[in-house]
Amino acid sequence: MAQLALFSDELCRRHNAGAGHPERPERMDAVANVFEELLQRPEMRKGEGRDGTITELRRIHTAEHITRIEESAARPVTVFDADTVANNHSFAAALRAAGCACAAVDAVCSGAVERAFVGTRPPGHHAEAGRPMGFCLFNNVAVAAEHARKRHGLERVAIVDWDVHHGNGTMHSFYDDPGVLYVSLHQSPLFPGTGYLEELGRDAGYGYTLNLPLSAGRSDTEYLFLCDQLVLPLLDRFQPELILISAGFDAHERDPLGSMLLSAEAFGAMTRRLVAVAERHGTGAVVAVLEGGYSLHGLELGIRATASGLLLGGEAPGGAHTIVDSAVEALADRAAQALHDHWGALSR
Ligand SMILES: [Zn+2]
Repeated sequence: MAQLALFSDELCRRHNAGAGHPERPERMDAVANVFEELLQRPEMRKGEGRDGTITELRRIHTAEHITRIEESAARPVTVFDADTVANNHSFAAALRAAGCACAAVDAVCSGAVERAFVGTRPPGHHAEAGRPMGFCLFNNVAVAAEHARKRHGLERVAIVDWDVHHGNGTMHSFYDDPGVLYVSLHQSPLFPGTGYLEELGRDAGYGYTLNLPLSAGRSDTEYLFLCDQLVLPLLDRFQPELILISAGFDAHERDPLGSMLLSAEAFGAMTRRLVAVAERHGTGAVVAVLEGGYSLHGLELGIRATASGLLLGGEAPGGAHTIVDSAVEALADRAAQALHDHWGALSR
């Protein structure tokens, strides 16, 4: 069995939000460079992409939203907001991006491969049910999570979002839903302005959203500390049958939009920890879906580290974390306290 399937599509290169926009077609070069190199290896397979169907999109988006994006295909430029712009190819690219995420879920849920990386654009995690925003048209990872549940009957899907921005659209999609655990590590304050620790979910979904807002300048040690202290213990309680990663690489130290200091190795280390969780509670199924990342070099390094982590497999956390900022430790304490009512003490 191939261990890792790589999904991408040249259609995604044709979406163009205009000259100077950071979410630019050249981002697909970073994807292509890594995929070309990895596909030389026997344990890799090229995934077969497809368009998302209206049924799949409708599980997350309103009919009006889908029509609005579709109508952009008839015009050279559609400005949804200052950040979010479509050309006449954007609908096709967005439909293919959402479909590739679903196809990747099909590949891991059918047992054809163990894990998958989806390198597509436009990204998705800011897209709300009825509103494109933050460079995002359809919420690829949310559509994929619903696809895993409705098509493959999964009951517990976790989404870990390490893009430097908070995934407001994804969080809202599952805010009252205990079947999808949403965890985000993000820079705050920063666009879109959501993602406070106090946002823990609603009704039956209370306790199934965890936001870890971090001030600028956080590094590998601090991200891995939060993973080991909170994210992994929470995932172990939840026992996901599938983990989806909203894999943005704008927390990389080279990124021009984010102000975090992550090295590429941090993405690999987080990936291998998540694979280990997935192996403890299921088949080891993990699908990483590209979100942001605006330094082409940082993006390429991040994709390579993440895809390699998916291929290498699970790895337990290393030793103790000794050099952690006191504000990050305080955040971990507050988060553990906030989750305590629902999950009890989170300890490894
Ligand atoms: Zn981002």
